[in-house]
Amino acid sequence: MPNRLDNCRICGRLFLKDHTENCLDCYKEVEQEFKYVIEFLLNEQNRYATIEIVSESTNVSLKQIAEFMRDGRIYADDYPNLGFPCAHCGKLIKRQVLCDDCFDQFSSEVNTTLKRDKLVGEVGRKERLRSIDAQYWRLKRNK
Ligand SMILES: [Zn+2]
Ligand SMILES: [Zn+2]
Repeated sequence: MPNRLDNCRICGRLFLKDHTENCLDCYKEVEQEFKYVIEFLLNEQNRYATIEIVSESTNVSLKQIAEFMRDGRIYADDYPNLGFPCAHCGKLIKRQVLCDDCFDQFSSEVNTTLKRDKLVGEVGRKERLRSIDAQYWRLKRNK
């Protein structure tokens, strides 16, 4: 099987894509960061920590910690105050990218857009049919 070259998602360096999404250096670094975060969270005293506190205490970026949660590597439900902001309204969430409210709103908006597009498509077809009709009658009259 041929090995694939890819750019590391973190440092952008070209690397051989074998088992990891990132180059080996970055992979090791992320794993090390994961260990710091997990060790911090396993401490009973830190059960109520927020993501900011975790980040400050472990020196791991907020983005990376949020990524661990999104990946499901950190089970944020075990930690009452742990979460990351919804990409839309900033409310604290523990998984995905949007909170439930924004997700509902977003999916109903998508639905409305789809319905509207469909409607526009149907109206458009009728309009086209009517103009073909009109041309037809014009041609007939001109004869
Ligand atoms: Zn890298
Ligand atoms: Zn939201």
